[in-house]
Amino acid sequence: MQVAFFNTQSYERPFYAESGDIRFTFIESPLSVETVDQANGADAVCVFVSDDLSSAILTQLKNMGVMHVALRSTGYDHVDFTAATRLGLTVTHVPSYSPESIAEFALALLLAVQRRFPLISRRSAELDFRLDGLMGGLTSGCTVGIIGTGYIGCAFARLLSGFGCRVIGYDPSPNNQFVELGGSYVELDAIYAQSEVISLHCPLLPATEYLIDDVAFSKMRDGVVIINTARGGIINTTALLRALNSGKVRGVGLDVLEGEQAIFYQVHDELNNNDVQTLLTHPAVLITPHVAFFTQQALESISKTVCHNILSVATGKIENIIAPTV
Ligand code: NAD
Repeated sequence: MQVAFFNTQSYERPFYAESGDIRFTFIESPLSVETVDQANGADAVCVFVSDDLSSAILTQLKNMGVMHVALRSTGYDHVDFTAATRLGLTVTHVPSYSPESIAEFALALLLAVQRRFPLISRRSAELDFRLDGLMGGLTSGCTVGIIGTGYIGCAFARLLSGFGCRVIGYDPSPNNQFVELGGSYVELDAIYAQSEVISLHCPLLPATEYLIDDVAFSKMRDGVVIINTARGGIINTTALLRALNSGKVRGVGLDVLEGEQAIFYQVHDELNNNDVQTLLTHPAVLITPHVAFFTQQALESISKTVCHNILSVATGKIENIIAPTV
């Protein structure tokens, strides 16, 4: 099996050293119009969330003889499934890898925002050690609303139980585990009305794109804290800025951003994105570069599943194959 591994990061290679029958060609550039030719001769491509999987690229891959797109991610909102289905390409993902890695990171963002770490760290760096403006809030005992109660939402609920939080959840496909962990399901409007903290753990789908917009903010409690480790497109960034400026939202932790493909995993002299620039300098906002997954345990688990997926598809097994999104 020849696999073109795009967007290779130096930290990833060691995890793919023991890959049995798979021969990886490691390509540092992301998959794009400029780099797609490097997949020539490969049976599969292995790609991440910042790779271009538009119709044009998928068509070129298919024309080169690539049959399988093996994602190194859980989320697959960056794949044009209409094109993949039309072309007969198989797309696999990693359905779950160390959900605790993302849940612990969401908790870290939450605690940091509650205790005003963005402002504290900025002030300390400027040798300003006054306390005014730094008063925080407690997470213990809060009502936390979780939108999306799958692997990560449940892992987050488990952590919150240690803080004595009241955990409420919304999910169109409820699962028993969330209830066994002490969570209770409510309607989306009740999440907005009751939660002091709202954490997003659903996929980006047509139904969840801009789920958090001006209307959703208007239904939330004043001073709500928002945590997003799911996908940037679930929140309307301009509406978020309005909610921050009006005081509706007290603090925000974002590991994902709308349009992050042009921002994360690179160094910039300046950003051509006014909303993100404003968020970055806002004292109540903590932005991290889609890093929640990034633990030793998660990378081990991802590489095992990716190799398993590549070999399974090659032998005709149907595992971790994504059906087109609806
Ligand atoms: P999962 O599939 O186990 O859980 C997602 C849950 O969202 C499911 O229970 C599903 O029913 C629910 N859902 C679907 N539509 C919904 C809607 N309209 N409203 C509310 N809930 C809805 O996935 P997971 O492993 O828990 O991952 C969740 C998301 O986290 C992924 O889709 C991905 O976008 C994101 N993620 C981010 C990172 C990171 O590093 N920041 C890493 C992994 C995953």
